[in-house]
Amino acid sequence: MVKVKKSALKRILASRRFVKYGCFTVITIVLVVLILSLANYILSYVQRRTFEQYTANSHTIAEGSSSLVRYAIKTIEAELRPYTLNPVIKDGTDKEISELIVRCHNLRPENSVNVGYTNMEGQCWTSLSGKPVSVIDREYYNDIVYKEAKGGVWGPFTSKVSGRQIVLICLPVYSSQFKLRGIIQCAVDLETIEFIFRDNPISSNNTFFVISEDGTHIYNTDKNYLMRSFDPPEWMHKSKVKALSSVELANINHGIVETLTPYGEEAYVFLEPVKDTSWTLGLTVPKKQISAVYNKSKKIKNFSIAITITVGVFLMFLTMIILNKINFWEDIHDPLTGLWTRKKFEMEAQQYLYKNPQRNFVIAEIDFQGFKFINQNYGTEKADQILVLFADVFKHRKFGNKFFFARGYADHFYIFREISSVGAYMEYTEETWRYVEEALAELDIPCYPKCGYTFVLPDNDFYSTPKTIHDLIGDASYAKSTIKENYMYRYCIYSKKMACDIERSNRIERYMLKGLEHNEFYIEYQPKMGLLDDKIHGAEALVRWNSSNPKLGFLSPGEFIPVFEKDNFIVKLDFAVFEMVFKFLREQIDAGNPVVPISVNVSRRHTNPTKFVRDFVRLFHRYNLPPSLIEIELLERADQEDPYTLLAMTDNFHKHGFSVAMDDFGSGHSSLNMLNEIPVDVLKFDQKFLLKSESNSERNLDMITTLVELGKKLNKRTLFEGVETQEQRDFLRKIKCDEAQGYFYSKPLAPKDFVDFVKKYS
Ligand code: C2E
Ligand code: CA
Ligand code: CA
Repeated sequence: MVKVKKSALKRILASRRFVKYGCFTVITIVLVVLILSLANYILSYVQRRTFEQYTANSHTIAEGSSSLVRYAIKTIEAELRPYTLNPVIKDGTDKEISELIVRCHNLRPENSVNVGYTNMEGQCWTSLSGKPVSVIDREYYNDIVYKEAKGGVWGPFTSKVSGRQIVLICLPVYSSQFKLRGIIQCAVDLETIEFIFRDNPISSNNTFFVISEDGTHIYNTDKNYLMRSFDPPEWMHKSKVKALSSVELANINHGIVETLTPYGEEAYVFLEPVKDTSWTLGLTVPKKQISAVYNKSKKIKNFSIAITITVGVFLMFLTMIILNKINFWEDIHDPLTGLWTRKKFEMEAQQYLYKNPQRNFVIAEIDFQGFKFINQNYGTEKADQILVLFADVFKHRKFGNKFFFARGYADHFYIFREISSVGAYMEYTEETWRYVEEALAELDIPCYPKCGYTFVLPDNDFYSTPKTIHDLIGDASYAKSTIKENYMYRYCIYSKKMACDIERSNRIERYMLKGLEHNEFYIEYQPKMGLLDDKIHGAEALVRWNSSNPKLGFLSPGEFIPVFEKDNFIVKLDFAVFEMVFKFLREQIDAGNPVVPISVNVSRRHTNPTKFVRDFVRLFHRYNLPPSLIEIELLERADQEDPYTLLAMTDNFHKHGFSVAMDDFGSGHSSLNMLNEIPVDVLKFDQKFLLKSESNSERNLDMITTLVELGKKLNKRTLFEGVETQEQRDFLRKIKCDEAQGYFYSKPLAPKDFVDFVKKYS
């Protein structure tokens, strides 16, 4: 047997709550992290893809443009080449050549400023003017004449002839003896280079440039940079991205570099060499542009992070509130014992039943005799301990077949178990009960579990009717309820008789109202006799029902009153009885017959004493009777936790002149204390004292004597019910009990017979 200590229990409870909220928090965090990681992944993917795209595009543009430049140069070179083959230029004098050049001005290559000729002495004639200028300081002259360069592009520089910014495309000229004898050249205005890039699909944010070896801009989309080289100003050196000068770019010549634009913007530059030249072509793309998409997604990302977290937190709170409201966890698990709740139990058992229609099952409901008493007298902690211990015993006997065990409201437990046979199960359950008794004995608290069983047995006529688990629990519960407060019985099995009883009680419920409407209820009067004078002192009105429903027929109050009490219909019936009694008395008085006080029974269901007595008196006054003709029989209510109602009821009746009897005194919950507090006039002792007297006479007779003496001491009239024999009557007479009621004198009588009885015994 595992003993569950209080601290351990608290820990389990605490940890259960911890598990509930912990699980939820972890799930929320995991979800948020997952969403964020996914967002991050998508974002970096977008970033990577954008960059790759831009790189590829820019590279293609740079490469294409570089080919265009080369193509343009090659075209001009091709147009110049015929000049180098011209016999005049090959072998003519400077004068002849210069004149030819001037004449050829209009035939110069397309888009060029002029064509020109430079002789070995560095004298240069152009087609624009016949006058020579000295170019010995020009690189192209030195490269071709002294370094044997085979032609190409030079520049940019300012033309000595036109004063414009130009590049020169030059070819060496050889004489027919293959001796270098000069240079034929063609100047292209830097501004005209633009036409090459006319159709370049570059965006307005991008800068496109061509720089010469020394970093001078031959072309730049920003015209301000033509002929200039870019040297980053001082302030740019502080930036985290290194600003590169155009010389540095020219040296790098090929690839992708990070730098700053002249405006200080971070940018990527895609560099591409222009083939056959010393030029470098560049495409500047501001990082901002590449990361525009990225930044946009970054904003979306930040936004979604914020949203995700907000929604996560909101959901967490919302779910917590909902969880607390619907008690999701508590709907499944009982926090005290850790067992299932009844709801969960019903759900699972129902499903299992449904899936296995051919198998045998037992369903049980268990609770404890007087658990309320244990709670009140030993405290809830001890009471809880009993429940935990009890649950534990069953938990440890869970082996074998399918077994569901749950705790419902208060001390109610439920069992659903697959069984092989009823006999085998009852044997097993006897053993379980022994374990339970042993375990509970350790607590040293008088607690007695009681249990109702019902079975599902497909091979048995009675237990094979298909029922829902809810109904089966109802049957088990009904069986248990028949144990009442008998401590001798531990369990009861739902039987055919119970089913009939239930059916009958349902039928009673269905027909009771009709019965009242059709005057099916009537009264019999049972005389109350003076023990000393053997005369009639009064009578008790007892209700009977002769139902027109053939299945019900004649019913005794012992059968129908408990059903009416469930329903509050008893309140209606009581008033109907009162009225019949008042009417009867009125008729007798009017007929001049002798009358005796009649006592009427008041059900426990009248809970508002003021209203009840007011209604009673109002009805009573209609018949104009003296209150001394009516006695009220009240039942003890100690079990109803409300001695106040009984007291108020008695006081109120006294105020209107009625006498009050305490009915069934000593039947169950009497407390001697109550006798003192509630000023009833009559004590009606319960018939069970007389029934017992046969078996246990000595002690019982002593008890009866004591009770009667006590009543006398308290100045109450004493009456014994259920007097059936002369012996009993004689004994009561001997001990000076005042009155007796019972079969010895008379059974309850029909009104007509009663009238005769009164006449005879007055
Ligand atoms: P009770 O108030 O204790 O009524 C006395 C019961 O004892 C009556 O049963 C009566 O017939 C029975 N009795 C009388 N003498 C003897 C006897 O010598 N031996 C035995 N064995 N029984 C005897 P009854 O009429 O079946 O009524 C049963 C209970 O139903 C009553 O118990 C009372 O609590 C309730 N009841 C009867 N009429 C009414 C009524 O009009 N209103 C209410 N609220 N309850 C009523
Ligand atoms: Ca009574
Ligand atoms: Ca009684």
